[in-house]
Amino acid sequence: MSQLIFFRKLRSSNLFILLIVVFLSCALLIIINFFTIKTLSASRAYVNGESHYSKAQKDAVRHLIVYIYTRDNRELELYKEELKVPQGDGIARVGLLNHKSDAVIRNGFLDGRNKEEDLDDLIWMFRNFKNVSFMAKAIKEWEQADIYINQLSVIGIDAERKIKTSKFDSVTKQKMLSEIGLLSNELTINERNFSNTLGDGTLIIKGLLININIFFILIIISSVSFYYSIMIKRLIASKKEIEVKNENLIILNGELDNFVYSVSHDLRSPITSLKGLIEVAKLEDDLEQINYYLMLMSQSLNKQDQFIRDIVDYSKNKRIGIIVKTVSLNKLIEDAIILHNHNLNEDKIIITKNLFVDEVRSDSLRLKIILNNLLSNAIKYLDESKKEMTISIRTYNSGVFHKIEIEDNGIGIQDEYKDHIFDMFFAINKNKGSGLGLYIVKETLEKLNGTIAVFSESNVGSKFTITIPNLYLYGN
Ligand code: ADP
Repeated sequence: MSQLIFFRKLRSSNLFILLIVVFLSCALLIIINFFTIKTLSASRAYVNGESHYSKAQKDAVRHLIVYIYTRDNRELELYKEELKVPQGDGIARVGLLNHKSDAVIRNGFLDGRNKEEDLDDLIWMFRNFKNVSFMAKAIKEWEQADIYINQLSVIGIDAERKIKTSKFDSVTKQKMLSEIGLLSNELTINERNFSNTLGDGTLIIKGLLININIFFILIIISSVSFYYSIMIKRLIASKKEIEVKNENLIILNGELDNFVYSVSHDLRSPITSLKGLIEVAKLEDDLEQINYYLMLMSQSLNKQDQFIRDIVDYSKNKRIGIIVKTVSLNKLIEDAIILHNHNLNEDKIIITKNLFVDEVRSDSLRLKIILNNLLSNAIKYLDESKKEMTISIRTYNSGVFHKIEIEDNGIGIQDEYKDHIFDMFFAINKNKGSGLGLYIVKETLEKLNGTIAVFSESNVGSKFTITIPNLYLYGN
């Protein structure tokens, strides 16, 4: 029983662990997916920002070259306007590296024509991924590009100054144009590297996150399947349990019907015969005859008394739980003999005891019920015609069991009745008993995990052998 409770507890804790695994996996999956989306969105924002950076840088170069050729101030203004875009991004990058205020960083990114709604992701990714290899590499490319942008800015200032002071000869112009060309080429390489590095990093993150997603989804699916298989097994088991209980209830109901019918009948019959005997006795004058009627009345009452005792024993066995303690078989047997003393014809009935086992670990109340019933039967069904009526009681150990034998040389049991004597209310001679005794013995023994066997021969005698487990061997 305690093992069963242990396994039930184990299964319940398994279920609890499974639920925790599912809960944690779901929570991790949500968190991971949240960051996956955030990372991918931030990468997209950087790629977007890079395209503004790259386009503005190229436009700035174009306007500067046109300005150098045309000396048109509008081109100079446009050049400065476009140059602000990569410079703004540069301010944001330096601000992020040097822990400047968020306002400085955000303004820088806004100058870089990044969207307002992307700013948080841009800042978050830079701060959290700046040391991750792909981001570190991309930042290096960006830093290098910013150096070239600075050089481009210096060339722009120089060109403006020389043009405005008319110190701009064709040699200077050629030199500047070739420097601008070189810078533009270098910037294109940096910008491409920046995009590629970010793209590769995004792909790695995407692959990693897909694998993590698959891993957690597999954990969730297997835990849920395992959980359901346990629940289904439990449902099937409890369905079977209910079916067995239902069958037992149907049997019990049948027994109860039978019991109520027989009890009411057996309780009434002595009353009916008493009433009859009283009526007859009233009309009788002969004292001897009246005494005879009184003897019959006393028999009726004894029968009813025994019947009520049987019912009380039956109910005790059903109601009271097992109490195992050390019991003296000798004492129980002696008590049973004393209880039946008034029925013993001292001269004719010889009771012998051969007790090889005295103390046992068992339920004393139930052993008492069993011994009283068996001894009562042995006395009731003795053969008065025999010169010597004997009852022999023997106790001994056999393997892991204690055995108790009660043998008589009474009337014995005919073969055709042997299969029914343990049935409820089965009595070969209804005048001698209610037919409850052996049924109670069998039921009581079941509670003790014991058994009963009968060897009987009509007119020779009967031997009832009861077997109960030797609880000393089980450490009880
Ligand atoms: P009862 O109360 O009628 O004795 P039991 O259930 O004790 O009912 O016994 C059932 C039947 O088995 C009895 O009616 C009797 O015929 C038979 N029986 C029981 N014990 C003995 C015995 N020791 N010798 C002969 N017959 C017996």
